[in-house]
Amino acid sequence: MDKCSFCGRTKKEANLLIAGLEGHICDHCIEQAHNIMIEELGNKSNFNIDSIHLRKPEEIKSFLDQYVIGQDHAKKVLSVAVYNHYKRLMQKTDSDDVEIEKSNIILVGETGTGKTLLARTIARMLHVPFTIVDATVLTEAGYVGEDIESLLTRLLQNADYDVKAAEKGIVFIDEIDKIARKGDNPSITRDVSGEGVQQGLLKLLEGSIVNVPPQGGRKHPEQKMIPVDTKNILFICGGAFEGIEKKIAQRLNTTVVGYNASRSRDLFDKNDLLQYIAPQDLRSYGLIPEIIGRLPVLTYLSPLNRKALRAILTEPKNSITKQYIKLFAMDGITLSFTEGALDYVVDKAVEFKLGARGLRAICEAIMIDAMFELPSKEIKEFVVDTDYAEHKLGRVDMKVLKAS
Ligand code: ADP
Repeated sequence: MDKCSFCGRTKKEANLLIAGLEGHICDHCIEQAHNIMIEELGNKSNFNIDSIHLRKPEEIKSFLDQYVIGQDHAKKVLSVAVYNHYKRLMQKTDSDDVEIEKSNIILVGETGTGKTLLARTIARMLHVPFTIVDATVLTEAGYVGEDIESLLTRLLQNADYDVKAAEKGIVFIDEIDKIARKGDNPSITRDVSGEGVQQGLLKLLEGSIVNVPPQGGRKHPEQKMIPVDTKNILFICGGAFEGIEKKIAQRLNTTVVGYNASRSRDLFDKNDLLQYIAPQDLRSYGLIPEIIGRLPVLTYLSPLNRKALRAILTEPKNSITKQYIKLFAMDGITLSFTEGALDYVVDKAVEFKLGARGLRAICEAIMIDAMFELPSKEIKEFVVDTDYAEHKLGRVDMKVLKAS
């Protein structure tokens, strides 16, 4: 009778019996062997910081340049921050008393200007665990939200539960502005969602040992927590901080008192006030000073102008048009776009204030019929020109695109 060569269970006693050349193995033994394997291999980390090739800040920036248009200031700051993060992880603390501390980062910029794209691109070239989490899950209206510690669950998962590796990782916290205290007067508006969450987040940013629920969500008493030390985790926060330009303008106006009014107006580029952002603006917006203190590197992303939007269509390594060209090539069709058609797409994105996200939605609306019909036709070449683009987009309600 067939039975497991490891534990002797018969076919009847086991759920599953797999035959090998000279024996069998049952599901129980497979599971046990699997656990032994994880335990053995778990001690050997995939993220070995000593064996990595350390990229210099300029190399990191060139890498970002391949995927992200413009935003030079933010790229520079991020490149240096990531480089220093590695250096800090490699530092030997015994030789002197100088300890390189981490410098968490905060990126401020309108939605759709590339904050998440920058973070994702950094993640492509990293050799430490990385994750993007959304701060809004902590404060969702009408719901108590998740525990702060759950922000680290994804990092742990991405590190295959290798705690040592996760403790050296990078976490991108998106929509950090959503946890700002509402209103200007802190004494009346001590709202739980804002300040309470900020206090919790402070614990993570400062560096402390927190108990992370391995499966995420709210803590359950029956769930076994994994302690994680956040001392070496680099936090990059991003937010749109809608309306913060007003605070910046107010501050700039008060600081230029003494100059004559017309000169002070010339000093600043009113269309891109974010470039003058300073920590006190974040404070006026509703972040508590302790949080701001723990995010010492502050940088901004500029609004995307026509030229940038046009470049986004064609220049990045995986630009929208390159993706369509590849899709069509897989059907043996050579696809091309005329300059006029591309300009038209940008015109529409600007006209309806759709930003970079809208570019894809517009292209999708133009390309959908061709993508549907051409694969079944004997066609070797297809050109999208202005007429074709206008014709296809003419039938689309732009409001729908705006919502998407
Ligand atoms: P957010 O600033 O809101 O995080 P995203 O990074 O998610 O914006 O940008 C949305 C999309 O717009 C990206 O996936 C990308 O296709 C495009 N995009 C935005 N900014 C840029 C940029 N600077 N360079 C290239 N593509 C961009």
